[in-house]
Amino acid sequence: MSTLGERGSCAPTPCGSISCRDVENLLDLTLDDLTRELNRAQEAPYRARQIFHWTYVQRVPRFDAMANLPTSLRESLSSRFEILRPEVRAYVRSADGTQKWALGLADGLAIETVLIPDGTRRTLCLSSQVGCAFGCVFCSTATMKWRRNLSPGEIVAQLLTVLEGPGRDAAAGLNLVFMGMGEPTANLEAVGRAIRILTDRSGLGFSPRRITVSTVGVPAGIAALARWGVGLAISLNAVRDDLRTRLMPVNKTHSLADVLVAAKRFGESSKGRLTFEYVLLGGLNDGEDEARLLAGMGRDANARVNVIPFNPPAGGAEPLAPGLRRPTDVEVDRFAAVLAREGATVMVRRSRGADIGAACGQLAVRLPEPATRGAAA
Ligand code: SF4
Repeated sequence: MSTLGERGSCAPTPCGSISCRDVENLLDLTLDDLTRELNRAQEAPYRARQIFHWTYVQRVPRFDAMANLPTSLRESLSSRFEILRPEVRAYVRSADGTQKWALGLADGLAIETVLIPDGTRRTLCLSSQVGCAFGCVFCSTATMKWRRNLSPGEIVAQLLTVLEGPGRDAAAGLNLVFMGMGEPTANLEAVGRAIRILTDRSGLGFSPRRITVSTVGVPAGIAALARWGVGLAISLNAVRDDLRTRLMPVNKTHSLADVLVAAKRFGESSKGRLTFEYVLLGGLNDGEDEARLLAGMGRDANARVNVIPFNPPAGGAEPLAPGLRRPTDVEVDRFAAVLAREGATVMVRRSRGADIGAACGQLAVRLPEPATRGAAA
C-alpha cells in the first residue's frame, strides 16, 4: 500500500493565528472523508468503518490499539493523524446533578460543555464556537466575544470526553443540544460535519431526532438545518422588533417576521421538531399581551414554546445590559398559564446547574489567555 500522505504544515487558523501542528485530527473526518483518504492510499473502504468503530464505539485513544488493522496501516495512520481530545481543565458537579467541563483546546483556548440530568434521560449541551459574536444581552458567552469557530472534531470530542469521564453512564438515553457557547449557524459547515459524524452508524449512531440545534434565527442556517432532520430551537425572546433588537442585535439583520417565515418553512419541510425559546426577563418581556402573541406564533408555526427564566451571570458578573432581572416564580407561572390557555404547548425550563454557572445563558470561560499563561511561565 502507499502511505496516507504527507504531514501537514503551518496554516492559518480561523481565528487568524498560525497553527503548526503537523498531524491532522482524525475526529475532523466524516466516514466519507476517511474512506477517500484510504482509497488514495489503496486501502479497502471497509477499513474506514473499522477505524470509526475503534474511535467512537471502543473509544481507543491511539491507532496502535486498533487490533484488527494491519501494522502498516496503523503506522501510516499514526504518522498522519492523531485522535485529539481536549484537556479537562476543570470539572464541577452541581447539587442538582448537572455537570460542567471546562475543556482546553490545542491552541490554549477553552470552552464549556454541560451534562444535564432529566429523570432517566440526559442532555448534553455542546459548544460550537469559542465565545460568540452575536452579543445577546442576556447571555454570558457574549461577554467573551468571538474567538474562533470549533472544528468538527472539537465538537465531537466534547461528547467523547464526557463519555470517558464522570458522564460515562450517560450514553443511554442521551440527547445532544447545540446550546452551549456560540451560534451554530455561524459555524454551519463544522456543525454539519459534526452531526454527520455523530449520526454515523459505524460510530456513535445518534438518531438526528435526538439532536437539537439552537439558533438566534438566521434564515439561511434554518433552511440548512431543515435538510438534516435534526430538531430546531429558535431563540425568540421578544414578540416585537424593538425589544428583540435591544435584546438581540441580530434582529437588526433578521427581523422577527423573517425568522417566523423561516421557522414556518422549517416546520413544513422537515421532520425535525421546532421549539421557540423565550428567555423570560422580569418586567421586560413577561406581560400577558406578550404571552398571547407568543402563543399565536407558536400555534402558527406548530412550535412548542420553552420558557426559560433569565439566569444572571455566575459569580456576580454584570450582564451585557443593566437592569435585567430574573422573574419571580409567580411571574413565570402567570406567563406560562397564559401561554397554555392560548393553546401553546409550553414547557418552563427551570434552572439546572445555576450554582456552578452551568445554567442556560451562563456559560463563559474565565480562564487566562494562552499568551498570559506563557508570559507568566
Ligand atoms: S445566546 Fe447564543 S447567539 Fe446569543 S450571544 Fe449567547 S451564545 Fe451567542
